[in-house]
Amino acid sequence: MDLLLFATLVAAIAIGWFLGRRSAHAHTASHADLPSQYYRGLNYLLDGRPDGAVDAFINALEVNSETLETHIALGNLLRKRGEVDRAIRIHQNLLARPSLPRPQVHQAHLELARDYISAGLLDRAERLLLDLQKESPEQRRASQRHLLEIYQSEREWPQAIEVATQLLPRKSLLGGNPPREPDGASRQPVSVALAHYYCELACERQAEGKLAEAGTLLQQALTQDKQCVRASIMQGEVEYAAGNYKQAVKALRRVRQQDPEFIPETIATLRKCYAELGDTRALRTYLKDCLAANPSAPLVLAVAEDLRTAEGGDAAAEFLSRQLADRPSLRGLARLISLQMDETRGKVRDNLGLLQVLVDRLIAERPAYRCGHCGFAGRQLHWFCPGCKHWGTIKAIRGTRVD
Ligand SMILES: [Zn+2]
Repeated sequence: MDLLLFATLVAAIAIGWFLGRRSAHAHTASHADLPSQYYRGLNYLLDGRPDGAVDAFINALEVNSETLETHIALGNLLRKRGEVDRAIRIHQNLLARPSLPRPQVHQAHLELARDYISAGLLDRAERLLLDLQKESPEQRRASQRHLLEIYQSEREWPQAIEVATQLLPRKSLLGGNPPREPDGASRQPVSVALAHYYCELACERQAEGKLAEAGTLLQQALTQDKQCVRASIMQGEVEYAAGNYKQAVKALRRVRQQDPEFIPETIATLRKCYAELGDTRALRTYLKDCLAANPSAPLVLAVAEDLRTAEGGDAAAEFLSRQLADRPSLRGLARLISLQMDETRGKVRDNLGLLQVLVDRLIAERPAYRCGHCGFAGRQLHWFCPGCKHWGTIKAIRGTRVD
């Protein structure tokens, strides 16, 4: 515990105790022992025994509607500092007072649910929040936000969909924009998360081989958020698996309109679809168009691969070295080295082999994806960012670093 916490604690308790004493005087005269508890707490504090101090302060501060805010603030402070057990005790202590007005009981309930979430006691938190969303109109949306957090971390997608649907902003009858939530500035729109919940369910159906059901769920994802890149990519995979190659191509090419930075994630499936359709020329044209409009290293590599198949290794190597001069990339370099190795023998080939090992190691050491919202970086594409808990904000890193 640091000095700041205790400065806050002493100030908060002093004010709370003063308020408590004032109102106690108004009603009864039986609270003469409050100061002694308060000074005992201060003693613990000066002796460097913070645990005893917190407990003495909790006992010293009478609970009534005037001191409630102080209790709640103290509990929240302890929770934020990781002292969840104490926070739970403070908030439970509040709920043991039958005299508190209902809105304040609800507020204490909400804080207790937050303590349980911090302690990982999700079942208990869920029960409290389910009651609270029914009983308290003021705390309904806050309760639903926390329920969503719980269902998301437990991967209970049907429940998450149900709660998120209730949280969607109501459409105004006049057709205007729905009012923004006051604290929603840094929060993702619920519709974006909702689309991903449908995608998660679709993933489960796809793994069970229920392609038609997966397709319906992906359509629902796109209804919630027509910019959902993940739904389009998955639709492409599901349609490909079902043998509907034209539908698959249509879904995958939609990604270019939704967010061109995700085009590289579609190339592998597109290539398989066009091969089935016997139209590799259409793929080449499409990839070249994409490269011209939204250049990226994976597109350079894809076009180089097409060139190698159509015109041979020399043409591919020449194209790659021209592209690398404009946009240096490690993966491009690795591919260029391997193309050159095919053409050489002896000592030169050995040296190129060594170079390739080094470049591969550089690639392996660097993260390939990063969250645009919080900066979390990783080797693989995750749709859910573990850092900031946003959906669809992780993208391939562009530029010379890895791609
Ligand atoms: Zn993030």
